[in-house]
Amino acid sequence: MREKFARFMMGRNGVDELARFESIFVWVLLLVSIFSRMWIFDLLAMALIVHMYFRILSRDVSKRYEENQKYVNFRYNAVVKWDKKKKRIAQRRNYRFYKCPMCRQEVRVPKGHGKIQITCPKCRETFIKRS
Ligand SMILES: [Zn+2]
Repeated sequence: MREKFARFMMGRNGVDELARFESIFVWVLLLVSIFSRMWIFDLLAMALIVHMYFRILSRDVSKRYEENQKYVNFRYNAVVKWDKKKKRIAQRRNYRFYKCPMCRQEVRVPKGHGKIQITCPKCRETFIKRS
C-alpha cells in the first residue's frame, strides 16, 4: 500500500510550502464559515482544497515550483517589511524618517534639531527638512 502510494506520487509535485499554507488557510476558512454561517466561506474552502490537491498531484513540477517560489518570496518580503515597520515604530520617539527626493533612499535623522540640511548617504543629494 505504502509502495503503491509512493509509486503514485512519483513525478508529482507533492506537498510544498504553498500547499502547507493552503491547508492551514482551508481550516481558517472552515472555522470562519462555522461561526459566520455564510456559505461563501465553505465554497472558498472547497475551491482552495481543489486547487491544493491539483498542485500536489500535478506532474508539471517546474511550474508548481515556480508558484511555490513566488509564494515563498512573497512571504519573505512580508516578514522583512513587518520587521522594518516594527523597528520604525520603536525608533519613532528619537528619529525622523525621510525619503531622498532623488533616489528614494530612506534617511534617518535624530529629532529635535530644527531645520537641518540632510545629505543622502547614497547619492549625495542634499535637501532641507525639519528634524
Ligand atoms: Zn539619494
